[in-house]
Amino acid sequence: MIFSKRIQKMAPSSTLSLVELANKFREKGYNIISMAVGEPDFTTPSSVIEAAYEAMKNGKTHYTPPTGISELREAIAEKYRVENGVNVDANNVIVTPAKLGIFMAVSTFIDPGDEVLIPDPGWVSYREMVNFARGKPVGIRLVEEKHFTMDIDDLVSKINFKTKVLIINSPSNPTGSILTYEDLKAIRDVVVDFDLILISDEIYEKIIYEGEHISPGVFEDLLNYTVIINGFSKSHAMTGWRIGYLIAPHSFIPQLEKMQQHTISCAPSMAQYAALQALKEKEAVHKMVEEFRMRRNFVYEELSKIEGLHVKRPKGTFYIFPRYDFDLPSKVFAEELMIKKQVAITPGSAFGPHGEGYFRLSFATSMENLKEGIKRLREFIEEL
Ligand code: GLU
Repeated sequence: MIFSKRIQKMAPSSTLSLVELANKFREKGYNIISMAVGEPDFTTPSSVIEAAYEAMKNGKTHYTPPTGISELREAIAEKYRVENGVNVDANNVIVTPAKLGIFMAVSTFIDPGDEVLIPDPGWVSYREMVNFARGKPVGIRLVEEKHFTMDIDDLVSKINFKTKVLIINSPSNPTGSILTYEDLKAIRDVVVDFDLILISDEIYEKIIYEGEHISPGVFEDLLNYTVIINGFSKSHAMTGWRIGYLIAPHSFIPQLEKMQQHTISCAPSMAQYAALQALKEKEAVHKMVEEFRMRRNFVYEELSKIEGLHVKRPKGTFYIFPRYDFDLPSKVFAEELMIKKQVAITPGSAFGPHGEGYFRLSFATSMENLKEGIKRLREFIEEL
């Protein structure tokens, strides 16, 4: 076989594959309603587009330093100091697409056989990135009864001498849960006591309806163990720009920077100038979140009325993660829904073994689509 064992073992991304599948069906003329993709259906704020255009016209079309332009690194550090209460400076920041940032962090800390604790259910790519680095992903259960927060007893019971990294994601994809100060305090104790590295994926930070986002970086001691990942894709509807950042202790930066140098060289220059403007753009973000909030309320209420579904109201993100009563693997549930009703959702099992029996519905699509999609979903369930 010409392909490496590592790439053969890698599963395709269910979230992205489903989008492709829905598009293929659409091209064939099917009236597909997709509630699968985790991508805002808004256009990037015009001030951000203008900033990129201006930058390009001014010749900002070249490589930048691998860690990013200094103005942006400073602005990101300032954002974390002022908005999040995290004591960092520009030298803690590497500008990079958020997904690549996670990949870089995993690759920087994992040797073959090292164990990485990941949320289960959790975003589809954590598992594959860890596998690719030849680490071993170990799922930590998010407990539905505790509003899908991490079970600390389960967390502690999974730690052994091979455990190296813990990944957390709040607000959480796919459950929409958020970690409270108390949750983070418990996580802090575990990370510091067991000398782990914490990767905190905060990409949904701005999309919150109840409670507040707290970065683990607020704990001064924990900050020395933590790589924060964030970006503009979800908050500013900038998925196509591939722009985000990581924040890490100064001593981690040279190692992480090597990864950046040998992969992407630097984040796209024009996207960096766009991001600089995005950090100033508060109004557009607020508007989008209010629209998501309306949709969340609608989706939650409608799904709660469907017999056989059990729904928790998400506190953040644009996902809802219902459990269903039917004796059907979630992959089959999703496939049948697509075949019979042309509705795309993501099967819960894509997010880990504890996601079985659930599905993820993304409400990052218009109210019109949501109404029609949920109507079809209800019909599908009634016919089961
Ligand atoms: N994170 C989004 C999702 O879960 C976008 C696709 C991806 O990166 O997986 O749908």
